[in-house]
Amino acid sequence: MPRYSTKLKLPFRLGGEYPDSVEVRRSDRKTVSLELRRDGVFFVRAPRKMEDARISAFLKDREAWLRSHLKKQEEQRQNAADENGTPPGKLTGAELRVLAEQARDDLMTRAVRFAPMVGVSFGRVTIRCQKTRWGSCSSEGNLNFNCLLMLAPPEARDYVVIHELCHRLEMNHSPRFWAEVGRVCPDYRAQKRWFKENGGAILNRVFG
Ligand SMILES: [Zn+2]
Repeated sequence: MPRYSTKLKLPFRLGGEYPDSVEVRRSDRKTVSLELRRDGVFFVRAPRKMEDARISAFLKDREAWLRSHLKKQEEQRQNAADENGTPPGKLTGAELRVLAEQARDDLMTRAVRFAPMVGVSFGRVTIRCQKTRWGSCSSEGNLNFNCLLMLAPPEARDYVVIHELCHRLEMNHSPRFWAEVGRVCPDYRAQKRWFKENGGAILNRVFG
């Protein structure tokens, strides 16, 4: 049975710009675990049959842990920014969280729109803040997108989504693959160029 993700409301309010929900991934594991990802998303791994109420109780127990880790993450970001003389345009943890939230909806909507045009299905959609890639597609058809795509124009986002969906047909970058991309995204060359010229500057807002 495939793993699947759901969202669960936090049983307490963190306030400010912090999210009020967590991502829960259920799988064939026996224990439950909580993780604060680098992109600021809270992530729970849980056994497949564990009820939401029990996960809520688990989270409630870890409220203090969560608060202290968030604080630590903010401090680390702040220190890194201070050392570099607070470079302009650097994204904060809170800003990244907002981008990740937006990316989840935006890129899912695009994937749903383009999948029938490419003629494929897809599995899970995961959003991360990554240094080296804008998107990827697993052999099981799970899509992974970079939350920083939200700083790229919509047509560039379309291209990345179509590119990853086309990997459901061809797990390579062969001429056949590019022909599929071009069928659904005729201006893909311009979008590739856009990333070549502007992608680095966007990534630098986190990783520079
Ligand atoms: Zn590719």
